[in-house]
Amino acid sequence: MKILEGLYGFIWQSASENNCNCFLIEGAKKILIDPGHRHLFQHVLRGLEGIGMTPEQIDVVLVTHGHPDHLETAGSFGPSTQWAMSRIDYDFVMKYIGPQVEFPKPAFFLQEGGLTIGNTSLQVFLTPGHSPGSVCFYWPEKKTLFTGDVVFNQSIGRTDLPGGSGKQLKESITKIAELDVEVLCPGHGDIVTGRKAVKKNFKMIQDFWFTHL
Ligand SMILES: [Zn+2]
Repeated sequence: MKILEGLYGFIWQSASENNCNCFLIEGAKKILIDPGHRHLFQHVLRGLEGIGMTPEQIDVVLVTHGHPDHLETAGSFGPSTQWAMSRIDYDFVMKYIGPQVEFPKPAFFLQEGGLTIGNTSLQVFLTPGHSPGSVCFYWPEKKTLFTGDVVFNQSIGRTDLPGGSGKQLKESITKIAELDVEVLCPGHGDIVTGRKAVKKNFKMIQDFWFTHL
């Protein structure tokens, strides 16, 4: 689905299978965020096909964190497609599930701060808590925030998985709640649109979920 000019979402709707939402930024370079599970890769391929694109046309794949339902197909695009994630989560994945994961090494590692790809400028925020090296991507030009499994519509990411921390997740959410966001694109569930709705969502999370962390 087209979310706004230059942004598409391949939203996951099956309740019986676990895969993440995948997003495509279509600028001078094509950037794909969180391609998801290998056995559910068809979902992304169909989404690309629906807008007349092939996997080989993706320039850069960005991964919010190292869980398999976001990461597994990061290296499954074209021969010239690069992919990146944070070094903290990469090392974490290699340490815990490395031998089972078969994909090429990232072309580069994501660090907190500006990231320009083609004519698209993103800000990378290090937001640990759900995983030790989770990142969120903020796209100021479109006031769009990609949160992976840090924040969802009405909910937050789990903190009981290895490397999770409720205290860190709280700090991370507090950090990104400050941003001027009109479109919140989470790793699972519905997109939240409209500045008011996004603010309300952060407030609900801070009022309700923070007491559980
Ligand atoms: Zn996750």
